[in-house]
Formats: sequence, C-alpha cells, structure tokens
Amino acid sequence: MKKLVYTLVLPLTLFSFDYQLKPVEVGSDSVHCFFGYSEVMNDTNNGNMSNSCFVNMGNSYIVIDSGPTYSYASQAYEKMKKKANLKVKYVLNTHVHDDHWLGNGYYKKLGAKIIGSSAFEDLEIEETTRMKRRISPEAYELTTQVHPELFVDEEMVLYIEHKKVIIKNIGHKAHTDSDIYIYIPSKKIVFVGDLVFNDRLPSVRDGDLKGWLEALDEILLLDVDYIVGGHGTIVSRDSVPMTYEYLKLLRSKVVSSMDAGEDIGDCVNSVTMDKFKNIHLYDSMHRQNVETSYRILEWEN
Ligand SMILES: [Zn+2]
Repeated sequence: MKKLVYTLVLPLTLFSFDYQLKPVEVGSDSVHCFFGYSEVMNDTNNGNMSNSCFVNMGNSYIVIDSGPTYSYASQAYEKMKKKANLKVKYVLNTHVHDDHWLGNGYYKKLGAKIIGSSAFEDLEIEETTRMKRRISPEAYELTTQVHPELFVDEEMVLYIEHKKVIIKNIGHKAHTDSDIYIYIPSKKIVFVGDLVFNDRLPSVRDGDLKGWLEALDEILLLDVDYIVGGHGTIVSRDSVPMTYEYLKLLRSKVVSSMDAGEDIGDCVNSVTMDKFKNIHLYDSMHRQNVETSYRILEWEN
C-alpha cells in the first residue's frame, strides 16, 4: 500500500508547474523583463500576471520584483543565467502586493539582499497569502513570506559597479502606501511597479487617486526613455498615459457624481468609462474602482 502512495505522490513533486518564462530585452541587452499575463491570479497562470525584471550591472544582477512564487523566481533566474551567469546582488520590491515579492525566499537563499519600502516593516506575516489561496499547491511549493531586510524611507542611493541606482519612496499613498521606484540614470530607465499598468485596468483598491497622479507627474519629470510598470508590456514613456488618463477621468467622474448628490450605489452604476471598456479586467474591476474612489473622495471633501 505504501508503495502505491509513493507512486501517486512522487510525480507531483517531480513535475512542479512550468511557467514557461521568456526574458524580453528592454532597451539594451543588459535589461530583461518577464512580462505577466493581463489577468488576475488563478490556478492556470499560477501568479504569472505581474512583471519581474533583471538588470545586468556588469558583474551582478539586480532584480526588480521577485514574482509570485519561489518556483517562478527559480525558473526566471535559470533563464537569466543563460543570458549571463551572474549572481543576484539586490532584489527590489516595488510595493507590498504579494504578486510582486513572494519569490523573495528563493533569492534570499542565493544570498541576495532584499530592499523595499519602510512600509514593509509593519507588514505582518499572514496566516495564508492571497496567492496561496488562488493558485495551485504545486506552483506555490517552497514559497514563504520573506520580507525585505533593507528599508527605503525617503531615498536610497546605491553605486553598483560604479553605476548609480536611485531608489525613491513615493512618500505618500499612490497605488499603495508602499510604492518605490528604481531609477538608473545611466540606462535612462525607471522601474515603477504598479504605479503603471498598461494592458489591464489599474487596481485602485489600496490606493489614492490624487497621490497616484502626483507620483506619475514626478516620474514623468525623470530623464528616462524607459518607464517599466508592474503590469503590461509597454516600456517606453507611452506606458504611462493609460493609467494616468484612467485615474484622472475616474476622479473627475466620481467628483461630478458626488456633486450631483448621488450616493455610492448610484455612483457605481452611473460612472461608466466607455473609453476603457475594452481594456482587460474592465468588467471585473471598474465598478470596484468606482466604489473605492467614492470612499477616498468622501474623505478628501
Ligand atoms: Zn499592486
């Protein structure tokens, strides 16, 4: 009987989920990203719905967002080693949402230092993560909640192989209360996490409309050719307008609805945005964004 159990269980551990990750060059052959699907996490994509990027600094990599699972991180690094077999020196976590940092445990084991906003200091280890509840156990295998060990309160400047890396804490609520961006002036590139979505609707749930728009204004002032978001494959400065215009229009429409005396239920029904209705996740996320915006703006006024 024991033998039978082994034969049933063993194949599952031997063949854990293959994310089939493909590194895509961004701007130069020193920067690659793995772009996730324009979906919410589920047991088909197994969390492969956010972006994870590698920058070759010369003798080491820095990784921006470690992805949704331990297994994703290990598969991404295997792919990167084929490009250049370098160690990972730092992993930057752009914000606290778990699709962006649950791969940390893998890189920590490799000896990388993990950096994130000081908001991570107050983040508690959850009994079970949102990711664990929604994806398959095989894909989640070995994943643990490893938080950053170095915190960015305002700004941190690193010199990695003589290249300057500026890590800036947005300092107020934007997409979340924990957003940082990673700016590499010599490569004219900035990684902004979920301050930018460009192929699916942004999620406003933990954010603030005014603060988010201010953060985007700040990013657009940087001397960069590449702005890489947490979701979406557009990496030029054209990555920003979809998020920017959606948030701006959402804000003005909800304000008008409130000025017209609509309550939250009426507002959720009346504020539609046809211009964005063909963007992925509009049907499942827009109403929720209107509701969140109403609550935010209620406090603002
Ligand atoms: Zn997020």
